Amino acid sequence: MKVGILGGGQLGRMLLQAAANYTVETYVLENDPECPAAHLCHHFTKGDITNYDAVYAFGKGLDAITIEIESVNVDALEKLQEEGVTIYPSPAAIRIIKNKIVQKQFYKDNGIPSSEFIITQNRVEIEALSDFLPAVHKIGEGGYDGKGVQVLNSTSDLVYAFDAPSVLEKKVAIQKEIALIVAMHTNGSAAIYPASEMMVNPALNLLDYQVSPALIPENVLWVAEAVAIKLVKALQSPGLFAIEMFIDINGDVWVNETAPRVHNSGHHTIEANHCSQYDMLWRIILGYPLGNTAPILPAAIINIIGAEGHSGPAHYEGLHEVLKIDNAFVHLYGKKQTRPGRKMGHITVMHSSYHDLTHKANKIKNLLSVITDTKA
Ligand code: ADP
Repeated sequence: MKVGILGGGQLGRMLLQAAANYTVETYVLENDPECPAAHLCHHFTKGDITNYDAVYAFGKGLDAITIEIESVNVDALEKLQEEGVTIYPSPAAIRIIKNKIVQKQFYKDNGIPSSEFIITQNRVEIEALSDFLPAVHKIGEGGYDGKGVQVLNSTSDLVYAFDAPSVLEKKVAIQKEIALIVAMHTNGSAAIYPASEMMVNPALNLLDYQVSPALIPENVLWVAEAVAIKLVKALQSPGLFAIEMFIDINGDVWVNETAPRVHNSGHHTIEANHCSQYDMLWRIILGYPLGNTAPILPAAIINIIGAEGHSGPAHYEGLHEVLKIDNAFVHLYGKKQTRPGRKMGHITVMHSSYHDLTHKANKIKNLLSVITDTKA
């Protein structure tokens, strides 16, 4: 089979690492020829994944296409689908998720618990909505890694609101942030990974540290799993989906957002679960049975993020020490240049005891830094 991936970042890279175990010819479309996935695919095409002609020309002649980021040209995917290329997930599902306004409306229409919201077109409109605060303002399209998200606690924060079509949603009193990955096969069978629990670095707004399986009460987990399955069924598409949720201070579950693709909350599944999320997506695309999502050991993911004040050729300080730790696995994404806050890699560490796992994760965080010799 000839399978294309739109986007060539680290998720594409790890997807390609898993593809090497199957007879599949891989194609990647991405603008940057030095991207993390460029050197692991059979065929690399330089091009813009948001451009109709680039996506259409790339996809013509392929058997299937998947994505590693949702900001892709959906019109071209729809055309390709009409012409017989199978798209994972379906273009209709990508269209729903790609725009946060449409995504929130989809939750409402399908009875998926997600915080109350108001759609706003510009900053002027927001000024009349101070009664709705505290809230979180999210740009409809184009935001990622916290860049399209603004917390508006009080009227004085309104100046930070987006002057573009956005969704203003009630701020949830978060107790925990979790993510669940669901695999949906074309034949209707589904599999769900154990929930992951994340901690966010408030300064960078990036996922900072994660533990899986999440330590949450069983009754809350059941609700979260039921919501995740209901959500994916409503999308009516095969593929792999990551559902980010909040557990609020009352133990209620709220969907934050969905990613219609392999996800950073599932990196640990490479070593810590019998079937990784990457292997799972290939099983779906290639028509093989779904794999076993059960955990082998509790795991933590530590992101390797470019240090403040360092921009330039990346140097990984502390790797040697990290690799001395039992069950620590290093994944560098092949990015030559580091920048403050840039995701350069991750480390998965596993341990049977959560106490020791947390200890090891913190040790790794303190041991490792991405710097450069030339200070920016
Ligand atoms: P991105 O797509 O950029 O990752 P998210 O929608 O996941 O953005 O939001 C980033 C973070 O902002 C979340 O992880 C959470 O900590 C916070 N956040 C988002 N929405 C809400 C909300 N409704 N209530 C409280 N916090 C929120």
